[in-house]
Amino acid sequence: MKDLVVCKFGGSSVADAQQFQKIKTIVDSDKRRRIIVVSAPGKRHETETKLTDLFYSTYDLATKNLDFSEPWKLISDRYLEIVADLGVQSEVQKDLNLLQEQLKSQAQEITEDFLVSRGEFLCARIMAEFLNAEFVDAFPLIQFNNRYKVSDESYRNIAETINTDKITVIPGFYGANTKGEVKTFSRGGSDITGSILAKACDATLYENWTDVSGLLMANPNIVENPLPMTHVSYAEIRELAYSGASVLHDEAITPCRDKNIPISIKNTNKPADAGTLIIPQTDKYSHVITGVAGRKGFAMLHVEKFMMNKERGFGRRLMVILEELNLSWELAPAGIDSMSVILEQSHFEKVESEVLEKIQQQLNVDLIKVSKDIALIATVGHGMTNKIGVAATLFQAIAEAEINIRIIDQGSSEINIIIGVDHCDFENAINTIYRAFMR
Ligand code: ASP
Repeated sequence: MKDLVVCKFGGSSVADAQQFQKIKTIVDSDKRRRIIVVSAPGKRHETETKLTDLFYSTYDLATKNLDFSEPWKLISDRYLEIVADLGVQSEVQKDLNLLQEQLKSQAQEITEDFLVSRGEFLCARIMAEFLNAEFVDAFPLIQFNNRYKVSDESYRNIAETINTDKITVIPGFYGANTKGEVKTFSRGGSDITGSILAKACDATLYENWTDVSGLLMANPNIVENPLPMTHVSYAEIRELAYSGASVLHDEAITPCRDKNIPISIKNTNKPADAGTLIIPQTDKYSHVITGVAGRKGFAMLHVEKFMMNKERGFGRRLMVILEELNLSWELAPAGIDSMSVILEQSHFEKVESEVLEKIQQQLNVDLIKVSKDIALIATVGHGMTNKIGVAATLFQAIAEAEINIRIIDQGSSEINIIIGVDHCDFENAINTIYRAFMR
C-alpha cells in the first residue's frame, strides 16, 4: 500500500468558492491527499436546488423542445460565480456555451446521463485548475459491463493512468457503458467513484468529506443529542445504512472492503473534528451498541399452514411467487407452522392481489394475513456479541414504554437485533432503545 489518501468532496463541499478554499486548505495540510474526487456543486442553503437536479430539469425541458433557460441560467451563474470568485482562468464559459448550443440544436442526440454528468465534469475541471493539479476524466476510465457493474478492467485502467505521485482531480458519479456513452451511477454515486479509486490505487485511506462530522449513534431528528460514532465496522455500517442511517452511498463500502481500506467520514466545515472511521473490524467498543437506526414503510405478509414444517419446499415456493412478481424480501421470520415475510410496502402494494391469489392457489395455506405500516428498527453493534442480557435490556425497555413488538429478528452474527413496530411507535421505540443502552 502507498501512503496515499483518496478524498471525495460532496456537493455541499463544492457549493461555492469559499468551500473550494476550504478544500485547498485540507488538501495542502496533508501530502498524502493526492486523489481528489468531486461531486457537482450542491445547495448553499436549504431553499436552493442542487446543480445535478437542475441538469435533470434542463434535459427534460430541452428534449421536450421547451424553454430551458431558467434552470440553465442557475447552472451557468453558479459555475461562473465560482470561477470569478476563485480568480481562475477557467474554460468553463466555453464548455457551457457549447453545451447550450447542443441543447438548442440537437438535444435529442445527447443523453440524459451525459448532460447530468457535466455537473461533476465542470466542477472537477475548475477544482484541478484551482489546486494546480492534473485533471483526469472518469470517462472512459470507469467502465460498466452490460450488467451495469463496474468492470475489473476499470481498476487496471485507473492504476495504469493515474500518476499517484501527483495531485489528480477526477469527477465523481459517472463512467462509460459498453456502447461508449456516459453512464452515471445512482444518485450520490460520487461516493462509489472515490471508493473505486481508493481500491484501484491501493490507497491507505479513503476520506469522504461532507457537511457533518461523521455518523451519529441515532437520528438527531428523533433522539436529542445522540453521541457520535468514532469507529464502526463495515458490517455494522451496512446494517445501519440499510436501516436508514445514511451519509455514504451503500455501494461505496464494497471496493474499499475488498482491500480493507478504512473509510473516514469527515466534515469539510470542521476538519479538526474526529469524524467516523469505518474499519474492517472494530474492537473499540465504547458502548454495547454502535448505533440504532430504523425505517418506516414495510408490510408483513403472514401465512399459516398446519404441518408446514414437514412440507418440503414450502418456503422456496413462497419466495418464488415473490420473485416472479419482482419483489425482494427484507426479513422472513418463521415459526413451526407459520412464516412471515417483510416487504417494502410501496412495492408490495403494486402486486398485492396477485401475490395473495398465487399463494392461495399454489400453497393451499390455512391463513394469509397482511399487516401494513410497519417500521423496522435495527439495534447494531459488535459489542453485543456474546454478551448476556442485551436482548433483555432492549425488550424490557420497550415493554416499559408500552410498545407492542410485531416482529423480532436476530441474525446469528449477533451484531444486530431487528424489531418491527407500528409506524405510530417508531420514534418512541428508537428513543427508548437509545436511552436503554446509553444511560
Ligand atoms: N451529483 C450527484 C447527485 O447529486 C452525485 C453525487 O453527488 O454523488 O446525486
